[in-house]
Amino acid sequence: MNSAQIRENLAEVQRRIASAAAQAGRPVSEIALLAVSKTRTAAEVLAAYHAGQLAFGENYVNEALDKIAALSDLPLEWHYIGAIQSNKTRLIAEHFSWVHTLASVKHAKRLDKQRSRDKPPMNVCIQVNTSHEESKGGIAAAELPTLAREVMSCAALRLRGLMALPAPVDDYAQQRRNFSQLRRLREQLQQQGIELDTLSMGMSADLEAAIAEGATIVRIGTAIFGPRD
Ligand SMILES: *Cc1c(COP(=O)(O)O)cnc(C)c1O
Repeated sequence: MNSAQIRENLAEVQRRIASAAAQAGRPVSEIALLAVSKTRTAAEVLAAYHAGQLAFGENYVNEALDKIAALSDLPLEWHYIGAIQSNKTRLIAEHFSWVHTLASVKHAKRLDKQRSRDKPPMNVCIQVNTSHEESKGGIAAAELPTLAREVMSCAALRLRGLMALPAPVDDYAQQRRNFSQLRRLREQLQQQGIELDTLSMGMSADLEAAIAEGATIVRIGTAIFGPRD
């Protein structure tokens, strides 16, 4: 997609975020836009950067590393939002500043061990399987407190919040019900003394519902870069 179109799309997504925030009575400054650049070229990421976007989400480690290297002179912030494989944790720990998809104690320990002590701690969201689908990844809500405490005990990790990837549905009320589960889980953890400042939820088709339920990071691909083929 060309630069002018990406710029226009970004502005439109910002408008949607601002309008959803206003509707929910929330300050728009509470909501960060993560541009999901999986399958896009470094040139498309660069176009988004020139339009003011700094945070990018990637799902595939090798593909991301090429772009991170190509754009290494820019002050970009890279978020890993794909499924974590054990043999990729070292590269994730070395090249990303956030991971949204942590779902096991084993991966927490590996990331903690592999994160250089020269870097700031890695920001971590735990992915929760709110839709109870085998394929969607994430841990069951019942396992959340244990994993959260494990992450908190890791010096090179900083627990920031929760992430969900509910199965896409068209109905706004159903979208809200899915996201409200994540909001409630965060509240439950906070009652146990576990402070979380991040809810990573909402994509191109459902960012309004996510913001209504308290999203602080929305992860947007298609609405910025067009459909993936
Ligand atoms: C691809 C992807 C997105 C972006 O989805 P769009 O519908 O293109 O906005 C967000 N989050 C995750 C985890 C993804 O894999």
